[in-house]
Order: sequence, then C-alpha cells, then structure tokens
Amino acid sequence: MSALKVLPDEPIIPKKPAVDPSTLGYRDLLRGPFWQRIPAYAEVTEEQFLDHNWQAKHTITNPTKLLAAVQALVSPSFIEDAELGFKRAPMSLRVSPYLLSLIDWTNPYEDPLRIQFIPMGSKLRPDHPKLDLDSLHEQADAPVPGLTHRYPDKALFLALNTCPVYCRFCTRSYAVGIDTEEVEKVSLKVSSERWARAFEYIRSRPELEDIVISGGDSYQLRAQQIEEIGDALLAIPNVRRMRFATKGPAVMPQKLLTDHAWTDALTRVVEKGRKLHKEVVLHTHFNHPNEITGITEDAMMKLMERGITVRNQSVLQRGVNDSPETMTKLVKRMGHLNVHAYYVYVHDLVKGVEDLRTSVDTAIFIEKHVRGSTAGFNTPTFVVDAPGGGGKRDVHSYEYYDRETGISVYQAPSVKAGQFFLYFDPLHQLSTAVQRRWADPAEHEQMTSAAIAKAKERTR
Ligand code: SF4
Repeated sequence: MSALKVLPDEPIIPKKPAVDPSTLGYRDLLRGPFWQRIPAYAEVTEEQFLDHNWQAKHTITNPTKLLAAVQALVSPSFIEDAELGFKRAPMSLRVSPYLLSLIDWTNPYEDPLRIQFIPMGSKLRPDHPKLDLDSLHEQADAPVPGLTHRYPDKALFLALNTCPVYCRFCTRSYAVGIDTEEVEKVSLKVSSERWARAFEYIRSRPELEDIVISGGDSYQLRAQQIEEIGDALLAIPNVRRMRFATKGPAVMPQKLLTDHAWTDALTRVVEKGRKLHKEVVLHTHFNHPNEITGITEDAMMKLMERGITVRNQSVLQRGVNDSPETMTKLVKRMGHLNVHAYYVYVHDLVKGVEDLRTSVDTAIFIEKHVRGSTAGFNTPTFVVDAPGGGGKRDVHSYEYYDRETGISVYQAPSVKAGQFFLYFDPLHQLSTAVQRRWADPAEHEQMTSAAIAKAKERTR
C-alpha cells in the first residue's frame, strides 16, 4: 500500500496574515542601464560597463575630475562644499563609474553612498578628543610590518596598501592610500620580502590557525599574487582557515564577472584549500542596500556556483545605515544573495569622520530590530572594535556604559586579560553640558576614571 495519504479536502487556514509585498522589496535589484543617467556615461554600453578594465580605466582618483563629472547634476555650492571636504579629508580618492552611477545626484547631501566616499566641508565635525589615528593599535600588535597578531589563534595580514575605493571611515587610514595633506601614511606596499617575513612568523606560531588577508584590499592583488599568498598559507600546517577581504564587490562587482584570471585564481585557492580540509572564504563589505544591484547578484551567484562562501562586515554610519529599516533591508538583501551578514561594527574612532559615527546605544537599538527578521546565521553580531587593541566585543557586553558622558568600558579576557578598553560616543550625541566637559582636558581624566571605577565595581 502507498505511504502517501490523500488529505481531506479542507481549506488551509493561514496562521499569519498575508505578507505585505513591500516588505519583500529587498529582492528588487537595480538592473538595466542605470549608469546612463550620468551624462558622462550616457553612451556607455552594457558590454563596456560590465568590463572591469573599462571600470578601472575610468575610475576617478582626482577630486577635480570627480566634481567635473557631476558638475551638470549638482549645484555650484555643492561643488564648493565638496572641494572643502576633500581638502580636509585624510583619505585618497578612488570612485568607480559603477559607484558614481549609484549615487542619487538629485539629492547628494542625503545619499548614503555619497556620504561614505565624498566628504562635505560643511558636514565635518571636530574629532573627539580621545581619538587617535591608529585607534585599534594594529601597529603596536604587529610582530613584523603588516602582520597584526592580537587574538590567540588569528592574524591579520596586510598584503598591500591600495583599495578599489577609499572609504572616508577607514580604520586603516594610517596606512591605506597615498599621503594626504592631513596624513603621512605608514608604508605597506607589496613586497615579497615583507610577505616572506609574515609567512615565516605565521609558521613559527603553532597557535595561528586563522589568517585574514587584507590591506588595502585583496581586489588589488594580481591573480598570481592571490595564488602566491594562498599557496604559501595553505602550505603552513597550522593554518586551517583563510579569508580574503575585499570591499570590491560593493564598488566594482564587474571584476568577479569579467576578470576571469582573478576569479579563477581565487577559485583554485578555495578548491585547493578544500582538498586540504582548510577553509578559504571571501569577506566583503556592503554597508547599504543601494550598493547591491543586479550586477552584484550575478557576481555573487558566480561565486555561489563555485562553492565560494561570502561573508560581510558592515560599518554602522550616521546617515548611511543607522536605522532599523535600512540595516534590516541590507541584511535581508545580502541573505537573498547568499552573503552571510557577519559583523556590524560600531564606527571606529577615526580621524576626520566624526560626522559618521554613532553611539553604542544606537547600535544596541538597531540590533534589537534586526535580530529576529531572519535566521540567526544570517544575523550580524554588532561589535565595538575596542580602541587600544581589545579586539571585537559584542556591543552589549560592556562592563559599564555611561550614556551621559558617552563612555563605554569593555574587557577582553581572552585577548588582553585585566585591561579595560574605552569607547567614546560622538560628542554631537551628548548634552551641551557634557560637550563642555569634553572641551576641557582637565575633565577627561575625571570622566574616564569614574567610568573605569564603575566597571571595576561590577567586575569584582
Ligand atoms: S576598502 Fe577597506 S581598507 Fe580600503 S579604504 Fe575602504 S575600509 Fe579601508
């Protein structure tokens, strides 16, 4: 007799109301020749636009050229404001045609992509007095140049110092890109000698199992260099996991589709790793749903077909993704493309971008809304990368948080036992009275000591 039973002809009574179609908007990805909205790209064909070489050739690295490309779309006052912003910015500039085309130039002040990559003089705010250029103390934890060994089993290998885009909010603005009027950078150029020293160190430390290859950005490595690094690390017996980190898919997904040598090189390293029972994945960096288009979908599906896992790390930024709606849409959109939302960082204390920072409280609020909107493995952990080298701490795990002074105190027992790490909310989110206290250096010690004393009371 068949195991299948014929069910009685009864209607299915839904337990949940029908879904509001607008909540599925995260699946609607921009397709078609959207770049032709920009006068400079009006005649650019799809074939050209999808070609990574065309994207690279037409990438703008000079503020004057960037502003000239959008001059017909924005007001003269916007241009003046941006010129002032560039003069004060500590980052180099690199904007691909893809990225430029995704900015809404009818409303550039509010656009989340413009905010991340093009500074406006009128929006800049004074830095927090406790800010430091290398706030994560990556250099202090580097046994050889460009290799940070902070966590017991993990190291960060900074293979190079260039990126496919330069983000205003970059934690590594101390090293990434060329010198600017504000910052003279630490040199982390591609060098086989420097790389060899890093590999030697990794081999000499049996506890190191997990290596992040970053920079700079893995997109800027040549195909042969991807394999060179991959092969060297896979050959080290203690290395069990590797991640190539790149912002590239967010600013030039075309490369994954048309730079066959690069994508094939990555695929070979992933496959070789799999045969050796070692995990090799790609870590990327989407911050806003608008960075993800139909081109991104095609690129991510190509990686999916090749069995390449992609995880994402976002940075929480004011005016970009600091609302539950935007962050939830980003997380769901990435999930739709099989990109795992791994971390959301509370913005590091980075020079010149105080306008982008949000508070620990904001992060906690947004996290509460994102959690539950999708499966747990697709839900990012919201973290503070503890200034001073404490590593990533779950934003909720503070020992003490004074919302009035904006000081949160964290500990990292498995990273640097016994130490306290302080994060500082941006001044503009604090009361005027407290802002006045931060303006007086004599008050700093009092506020920080009081916060640490409270934290000590709780950890006794
Ligand atoms: S791509 Fe990454 S390393 Fe490069 S500037 Fe942006 S955040 Fe910094």
